[in-house]
Amino acid sequence: MDIESIDLYVNYRCNYRCIHCFLGEKLNDTKIISVNEVDKIVKYCSKNFNTREIVLLGGEPTIHKDINEIIFGIFKNNIYNIRLVTNGGKSCQKFIKNFKNSLKPKLVFSIDGSSCDVHDAIRGKGTFKDLKNSIIIAKEYGYQIDAITSICPINIDDAINIVDFLDFFGFNVVNFHYITARGNAKSDMHLLPTDWLYLRDKLIKYSVNVNVLIRFETTFIDNNNSNINKCKIRERSNLMFFPDGNVFLCGLFIDSIYTSGFIWKDNNLIENNDYSEISYAKNTNHSCPGMKLILENNEQSNIIENFDFSCIYYKEKLNNK
Ligand code: SF4
Repeated sequence: MDIESIDLYVNYRCNYRCIHCFLGEKLNDTKIISVNEVDKIVKYCSKNFNTREIVLLGGEPTIHKDINEIIFGIFKNNIYNIRLVTNGGKSCQKFIKNFKNSLKPKLVFSIDGSSCDVHDAIRGKGTFKDLKNSIIIAKEYGYQIDAITSICPINIDDAINIVDFLDFFGFNVVNFHYITARGNAKSDMHLLPTDWLYLRDKLIKYSVNVNVLIRFETTFIDNNNSNINKCKIRERSNLMFFPDGNVFLCGLFIDSIYTSGFIWKDNNLIENNDYSEISYAKNTNHSCPGMKLILENNEQSNIIENFDFSCIYYKEKLNNK
């Protein structure tokens, strides 16, 4: 099977402590994926899955001590489509300047507010100012820039302003994510399905005014209108490599009692047979096993009685750019 893009979480550590971060306690773990190991994973995935894009994440990948070498190593493997997801902090500003006249990764900034008030309430004091500076420097150095916005009750009313901010700075794409209770995020950060779908309608209407492409996790589908379903676990079509060797197929199982579907060990992907995300997905007939697990764990199954789920990995384009 082809897996066009894989996610490499090169470290757990981060210079921030965002209140919605799914890594929770893991943010203190010092394990990293080394340059050598990245090289092996990239070669393995190119050969076995025809992988053509690498997404670098963390923690904060720009504080990985060898992040430049990791990127040069991926280019040497003839993969030129690299995306690096960053919080846009001071380490990012330093990182940006290392790729002045060379091939560059695409930068994907995490942005959760259009002002200090909103963004800093989620990511910490001073983070919006640093993010804005990083965006300005990235533009100056000729990077292509995309964004991820994770929505919760704190910033839902700021979503249109965020789109305007991104459009003003020439972002190509913004992905809107639904926050689920994992890691630092608690169940009070879950939006009701009706609020999430209301936001979708609002963004669709607004999207004609902007050039930035808006992609949206549909997440909830009205039961009467359900034509799903695909699941990356059941398809085995998503790979997320972590510094401790865990390779998850779905991010919703991180921080759960179920293990990753695979382990990366001795230059090989080995299936975890017991009590893993794969076995859980096999034994539930629900359209999205991950969301079912999270909402049940948080005793919130009632909020979704009238809705079905669609996989968070399938994003809907809200405008035609
Ligand atoms: S989000 Fe749901 S449907 Fe998608 S891979 Fe995870 S468990 Fe499967």
